[in-house]
Amino acid sequence: MQLIVLGCYGPYPPAGQNCSGYLLRHNDTAVLIDCGNGVLSRLRYYSEPWDLSAVILSHLHSDHISDLMIMRYAWLMRQESTSPLQVFAPDEPREEFDRLAYKNLVETHAINDNSSIRIGGIQFHFSQGKHPYPSYFISAEAGGKKLVYSGDTAVFPGMAEAVRGADVFLCEASYLRADLDSGAGYHLAAYQAAEAAKEAGAGRLVLTHHHPERDPNLALDEAREVFPATELARAGSVYFL
Ligand SMILES: [Zn+2]
Repeated sequence: MQLIVLGCYGPYPPAGQNCSGYLLRHNDTAVLIDCGNGVLSRLRYYSEPWDLSAVILSHLHSDHISDLMIMRYAWLMRQESTSPLQVFAPDEPREEFDRLAYKNLVETHAINDNSSIRIGGIQFHFSQGKHPYPSYFISAEAGGKKLVYSGDTAVFPGMAEAVRGADVFLCEASYLRADLDSGAGYHLAAYQAAEAAKEAGAGRLVLTHHHPERDPNLALDEAREVFPATELARAGSVYFL
């Protein structure tokens, strides 16, 4: 598989950056995981949206879905007929889920806890994290390799189980330890991502969902104290697994 980072900030971006989006490819299969603001523009360096096999949304917060609201216009403007865009997402909150479908151009499918789907040559599995909106860990397996993406989550008992066997663990690290000490919630600190990677025996940890007002290297330093095989997601980074 090939993982291309299209956006790695949340819940909003600094200048010249954008929010969450990751293109996962394996042979002829191309799946976009999350579709935050700015992702469609960067996607087109690598793939036309019509060539996507599907889109999977970890959850329905706007920093993970907002470009889906304009991707529909690419289908609308397309002169030749093309099959509908297939979107897999949690169906809560219902009003957000209902906004995703569009005419006969975007079809939606609900994903649930501990469920699996196959898209082309990639097998996906979903397990629920801990977030104000239902948010899912997404594991993707193909060619004997496994990617796990955390979506947005706070730490919860057994989190490492969702990561077990990952060659690459792409994990949000919105915070530092000091933020949690100050009462921040709903997201992970970098050291917590690293502890999960270590407990799960992950091959590499890639931190993402960077804080828009802070140097991501602070998160990198905190994580590497626990799990040295950690790096930072950057727009345009490509990982082969
Ligand atoms: Zn987010």
